[in-house]
Amino acid sequence: MIVLSREDVEVLLPPETAIEVVAMAMAATSRGEAELPLRSTMAAGGPNMMGIMPGMMRNPPCHGIKLVSLFPGNAAAGYSSHQGAMVLFESEHGTAIAIMDGGPLTALRTAAASAVATRALSRENSAVLAMVGAGEQARHHLDAMIAIRPITELRVASRTEKSAANFAEYARSKYPHLTVSSGTDVRATATGADIVCTVTSAPTPILQGAWISRGTHLNVVGASIPSKREIDDETVLRAQVFADYRHSTFVQAGEIVDMINAGTIGKDHIVAEIGEVLNGGASGRTDDQAITLYRSLGIATQDIACAYHCWDAAQRTGRGVDASL
Ligand code: NDP
Repeated sequence: MIVLSREDVEVLLPPETAIEVVAMAMAATSRGEAELPLRSTMAAGGPNMMGIMPGMMRNPPCHGIKLVSLFPGNAAAGYSSHQGAMVLFESEHGTAIAIMDGGPLTALRTAAASAVATRALSRENSAVLAMVGAGEQARHHLDAMIAIRPITELRVASRTEKSAANFAEYARSKYPHLTVSSGTDVRATATGADIVCTVTSAPTPILQGAWISRGTHLNVVGASIPSKREIDDETVLRAQVFADYRHSTFVQAGEIVDMINAGTIGKDHIVAEIGEVLNGGASGRTDDQAITLYRSLGIATQDIACAYHCWDAAQRTGRGVDASL
């Protein structure tokens, strides 16, 4: 058994590597080579929650569980909104082989999944990135989008001017080639962008379909429980919608659940899982004018595949602390 810290996970799983590991996991998931029970959540006082995400993969052969606290107020106190631990088991004897920080693992794998979807669905020449939300996910999504598309312009909108400006400053210093603007106007930020990432903790829609230009690709990431949604009905209706995993999308993606219940869309409005596109069983965007939308909820195989990669890389590099149970 080894223990991997936040720093270990960040060193062992750079964004470019995370993208390839998550692509493999999403493709395997859509081929049915995984066990993926629905994530369960528990109230943990006030707006706080705890998520429990088990799963199993055939290749790499392992299973595991992520236990993660979702504390939306954490950013103000300088903590990550996601705190937790991932426990990884090998599949020959079922032994626990690693425990690692679930916070960076979640942030890295979520942004990597958006990059996998964006690489599969967005126009190749996408250069203008709109980031709605300016927290931990925004920082990782910036890295991930720059890794897969020739981004030259970044627009940031957040709830507060200060938070958007801080993020803009961070982006300018990390990526000096970018033209960066910031503010609180989501409409101005999103209209005309090639890629829009919504990475907020907003409980009600902050993005309207009427604001989205033709040809845009959207990564809708921030709302992971059925009572929350970041986008309005119009956004869903105008878009070709892709999921990470249909089963959870129909139960946990707020706007999709609401619209199916209201009869506004049928389940067939979800064109495909991203893994189906990667496996060649489904097409991506139909043409340059289409609006594509990746609805991210996050799936356990993304965590498990990334955890296995970290464990494997730790064996080779000597990182981590041995801790017999
Ligand atoms: P942070 O707390 O670090 O950041 C949240 C951001 O959302 C802040 O910039 C905040 O703005 C912004 N925000 C909140 N409300 C609004 C609003 N009404 N309008 C515009 N911006 C708003 O959280 P994270 O970055 O860690 O996570 C973001 C979201 O992503 C969370 O809801 C989280 O649960 C979800 N998530 C989803 C995952 C998935 O797999 N799909 C995985 C991990 C997280 P400000 O700073 O100005 O107040």
